[in-house]
Amino acid sequence: MLEDFKQEQPIAYKILKNTTINNKYSHAYLFETNGYYNSIPLVFSFVKTILCPVHGDHQEPCPICQMIDSHNYPELQIIKPDGLWIKKEQLINLKEEFNQKALVGSKKVYIILEAEKLNGASANSILKFLEEPEENIIAILVTNNIFQMLSTIISRCQKISLKNTKNILKEENTETKLGLILFNKKELESEELEKIKKVINFPKYYEKHHLETIVYMTPLWHDYIKTKDELLTSFEILIMYYKDVLNKLLNIKLDYFQTYEKDINEIAEKNTLDSICHKLKILLEYKEKIKFNVNTALLMDRLVIALEQR
Ligand SMILES: [Zn+2]
Repeated sequence: MLEDFKQEQPIAYKILKNTTINNKYSHAYLFETNGYYNSIPLVFSFVKTILCPVHGDHQEPCPICQMIDSHNYPELQIIKPDGLWIKKEQLINLKEEFNQKALVGSKKVYIILEAEKLNGASANSILKFLEEPEENIIAILVTNNIFQMLSTIISRCQKISLKNTKNILKEENTETKLGLILFNKKELESEELEKIKKVINFPKYYEKHHLETIVYMTPLWHDYIKTKDELLTSFEILIMYYKDVLNKLLNIKLDYFQTYEKDINEIAEKNTLDSICHKLKILLEYKEKIKFNVNTALLMDRLVIALEQR
């Protein structure tokens, strides 16, 4: 619900809330995230005010909101960079999708994530969209890097600037517990041990292949990490793993993954103190995002990109 952001983003909340009350939507919005950790859930709450019959104003999500959350709602299209850029073809497909599924009277929304990655050709197509807005189609661009965007695009959107607030959620102290479990891992069920092994395959693969990891995400991750709980536990494991890489770099004895010292060593050799601290920071940020029902496929892709961005 939009109300969830009232405290952390009072200005954006006020603007968006007024829009929904008056039911007067602009044709295009540009969300400038400024690194706000909860930007995507905020954008989705806003999208629900447009597409949901009761404007997302309910505690239990309706079927439409559920479809929005799982990115299966036909009147909502989400575009994110295909590789390093958003490609022109992605926008052509968008237009075709919307034309095919046009339902009279109903609103349609497209979200462009990492909008700074619109390159020459795709930036031009989006400009055409923005210059000749179609009735009932609302564009939502999201960027953390407005300075890389064309001013002609920016000027055609209503800009919503978010402020970078600290995460006010309390850390749960599951970490120590998990650490102890791992420490005594001889007593671990083999099934649990298998899961941990699979999770730590991710950093091993990622540290070798970097952005390419995204292509391999399904067999590497999505095939066996399905629920929110599994995802949270996996992130705790990843954080402990990178803490051990940090230990290695500081020449301190490993806390959790003594058995995998060889792998930890290899990763430590490829990283600096700075890069490991960056990765730990990103992992902690993304672990928080999981608590807000974000789409996990998107989350993992974005994680890889965020780990790379330094
Ligand atoms: Zn709803």
